[in-house]
Amino acid sequence: MASDTPQNLLNKVWDVHTVRELPSGQTQLFIGLHLIHEVTSPQAFAGLREKGLEVRFKDRTFATVDHIIPTESQARPFADPMAEAMMVELERNTAETGVRYFGPDTGQQGIVHVIGPELGLTQPGMTIACGDSHTSTHGAFGAVAFGIGTSQVRDVLATQCLALARPKVRRIEVTGDLAAGVYAKDVILEIIRLLGAKGGIGYAYEYAGAVFDAMTLEERMTVCNMSIEGGARVGYVNPDETTFEYLRGRPYAPEGEAFDRAVSWWKSIASDPGAPYDDRIEIAGGEIAPTLTWGINPGQALAVDQRIPHPSEVPEDDRAFVEEAITHMGFRAGEPIAGTKIDVAFVGSCTNSRISDLREAARVAQTGQVAAGVRALVVPGSQQVQKQAEDEGLPEIFRAAGFQWREPGCSMCLAMNPDKLLGREICASSSNRNFKGRQGSPDGRTLLMSPAMVAAAALAGEVVDVREVL
Ligand code: SF4
Repeated sequence: MASDTPQNLLNKVWDVHTVRELPSGQTQLFIGLHLIHEVTSPQAFAGLREKGLEVRFKDRTFATVDHIIPTESQARPFADPMAEAMMVELERNTAETGVRYFGPDTGQQGIVHVIGPELGLTQPGMTIACGDSHTSTHGAFGAVAFGIGTSQVRDVLATQCLALARPKVRRIEVTGDLAAGVYAKDVILEIIRLLGAKGGIGYAYEYAGAVFDAMTLEERMTVCNMSIEGGARVGYVNPDETTFEYLRGRPYAPEGEAFDRAVSWWKSIASDPGAPYDDRIEIAGGEIAPTLTWGINPGQALAVDQRIPHPSEVPEDDRAFVEEAITHMGFRAGEPIAGTKIDVAFVGSCTNSRISDLREAARVAQTGQVAAGVRALVVPGSQQVQKQAEDEGLPEIFRAAGFQWREPGCSMCLAMNPDKLLGREICASSSNRNFKGRQGSPDGRTLLMSPAMVAAAALAGEVVDVREVL
């Protein structure tokens, strides 16, 4: 993109997708890709029908089923009549409107934020919307991607546009190298710990620096996925050779000369040297340790060798929330997080259910046996991940260690399916939210961590430092 003034990716992508500036000060923004699923689309389709409207751009709209789908058996009809009804509704809506639907019989079903990238639908320079907060995942490709509500899903179906305020941009540079046993999940948990769960409100996060340059696309997805947990609706990494190589040969990526032309365009939308930012942060990658949450939002995190904070140690504004978290979690201020007994271990979710996540968990799993009394689940993010894992023999490794190997879906991330915590169970989880009740029990307790840390906790029956296992 030719311009004399250096610019960042967010503003370049925003400008080329601007239909017009609205009197409200918002932008009418064209949406390049709209991903839909069974939970936030039924009312949107109903709204469309009520107004006698059609899906405006069918070729930019793709559907799958993920939140409600059971992971033990996906035989129809589902045991839960509500889940079955939602599935039928999605099948009907997509068939009636001509929207492409990646259902379980396609071999391409999975969590919406896993299948978009693996199919090559997600590409640099796009604007991407989906009725799910973790749409920020797709920013890993240098797209501007954000979650939207049900009424906005209807608006995008009808017009392919949204009215949005342009966010500010904070560049978060992570320098140096990560130590062994430290993963992308630890990086984003550390970022949210430092900046706070609300620190990114009004911002898009641009992740940059040597640590991100060295990351795979899957690792970048883990980081961008949790941008929203730091308050930033959008998080992105500038596209580079890693991005282009990931996309080459994917079903919906351009082919041949069209691919080469696309690469030129993708390069042009990356942030320019000297581009302006509204804020900048620098973090030393080498100082990041295996990190996990101890509380009830993802900002309440600490390194695995640290202790639960005393309310008196935190700023006065945070004190009541820290006390609430300590009470809910049943911790004592000052006790070490390592050694916390767990009941459940969950490897899965759109944050960490890709093949590289499963490989790392399997590497740990093969060193031992799941501790007595621990229920351990591994849930691949998509049918394609499932197949690849099966080709590599990962299910055998997990089963031999005592883990359950499940069918693809959101599973225990949100527990809109039979995978739920019971009572006060504590779960070591590779998902993205540790809010009260998130995993299906109002009293359940979630410790967010990397898949390798989850696997290590499953074997030990308690929180351990994965560096001592690997
Ligand atoms: S895995 Fe969790 S966060 Fe991701 S789309 Fe499913 S429910 Fe939402």
